[in-house]
Amino acid sequence: MIDFNVSKSRYIRAVQCLKMYWMDRVKPEEFDDSVMDESVLENGNEVGELAQKLFEGISIVKYSSDKSEMINQTVGFIKDGKRYIAEASFSFMGRFLSVDILEICDDGVIINEVKSSTGVKDVYIDDVAYQSYVLSLLGFSVKSANVIILNSDYIRKGELELEKLFSVNNVTEQAFQRHCSVEKLLEFLSQDLDLRTEPDINIAEHCFSPYPCGYFGYCTRHLPKENIFLLRNLNKSEKLRMYHSGIHSFSDVINEKNTFSKLRPVIKDQLLKKKIVKKEEIARFIKNFYFPLYYLDFETVQYAIPPYEGMKPYQQMPFQYSLHIEHEDGTLEHKEYLACDGFDCREELALRLINDIPRHSCSIAYNMSFEKGIIADLAFQYPKYYTDLMDIYNNMLDLMIPFKNHWYYDEAMQGSYSIKYVLPALFPDDKAMDYNSLEGVKRGDEAMAAFKYMPMMSKEEKENIRKQLLKYCELDTYAMVMIMQKLREEE
Ligand code: SF4
Repeated sequence: MIDFNVSKSRYIRAVQCLKMYWMDRVKPEEFDDSVMDESVLENGNEVGELAQKLFEGISIVKYSSDKSEMINQTVGFIKDGKRYIAEASFSFMGRFLSVDILEICDDGVIINEVKSSTGVKDVYIDDVAYQSYVLSLLGFSVKSANVIILNSDYIRKGELELEKLFSVNNVTEQAFQRHCSVEKLLEFLSQDLDLRTEPDINIAEHCFSPYPCGYFGYCTRHLPKENIFLLRNLNKSEKLRMYHSGIHSFSDVINEKNTFSKLRPVIKDQLLKKKIVKKEEIARFIKNFYFPLYYLDFETVQYAIPPYEGMKPYQQMPFQYSLHIEHEDGTLEHKEYLACDGFDCREELALRLINDIPRHSCSIAYNMSFEKGIIADLAFQYPKYYTDLMDIYNNMLDLMIPFKNHWYYDEAMQGSYSIKYVLPALFPDDKAMDYNSLEGVKRGDEAMAAFKYMPMMSKEEKENIRKQLLKYCELDTYAMVMIMQKLREEE
């Protein structure tokens, strides 16, 4: 089997950071794969396969760990006069590439790079530049190069219309303009880069963009255990600015007067490990609520390719909600909805919701912009429920406010106001309030993945997952009830 020293993905990683390329080759065991987002990879495969349908009679090169096998298949397809070839694979002097969809014309070739995103990012141009450069070296005349992405304005009406779902962007000129830098970097990688010496590259924006780097832990191993990259509520650029001005540890932050004064109070409190309870603000906040209280939480799923009428790529589709109703006398009711898989449940869910929450009720969510967004989408999708749904929308209050505004803070919240941090801080020894004590689904992304894959599960697996989803979502709203009680105690 031939060992190719550069592939398209390795080249892209070298553009992002030379040290990343070096680490891939010399110390790959240091890679932390928690930076990999499985759903992005899955969306990429799904979108890639669908985009192939844009090209009639396409021939597909089968994946093989032996790259020369893929190259042989490609040669065969070209000899057979095939016009469109997916995963068309080539190499030139150890530089390997697979073109997502290659079109063979009489007077040259057209590169089509398919991405599951809804925008053309700069890194896609580097990707296409590498492909067009290597193909040029092989003697192909590259007529044009396109990046095919999902059209974020597309709204499904009836059957999928692939020409409208996908947007084809001609990037030939930008890609060709980068050939000189592709050539230089490839030469450097194959001739000058010394694999025996670790490149001396400091951490910077390139560690996070365009892709998060899995070697960040390795490259920051010199920092103290409590370092600024663990701070929440500070963005990456701010952290990097501090890092490059020599502020590395929590105590550096506390001792650095100028930078420290600019930090938002939440970070200050996080560092000083203070407990804060602003009773007046909390009391004013609680006065806005009126019984009965309807604590609401949705679980949603996102599909790159809109599966149902009126949906856009990546639109959040609600499939579940939990609703706790707290009456003035302290009694609690629980209602819930969880869709069966494999059908468009939005109307059924909307109808249940407006039946469960009477008009003019006080509904409560934690980080309500999310719940409100879902309700607004449903209202526009089903005009006959618009008034009822917008009534819920307009009467919703956000339980996150006291924590976001820092009226209530405990060091156990570790600088975060997410319910996943607030809850254990408020109820440290209560197993019933601990997401980790749930069996199976413990987070929103796990709920989304579980629902998405339900159609592929056996009956028993489905039943088990449904139980987990119900328990998980129920805890979300029960947690809100308990948080409200805690705030009332602080009034
Ligand atoms: S963490 Fe940053 S500096 Fe280290 S290899 Fe990754 S991108 Fe390069």
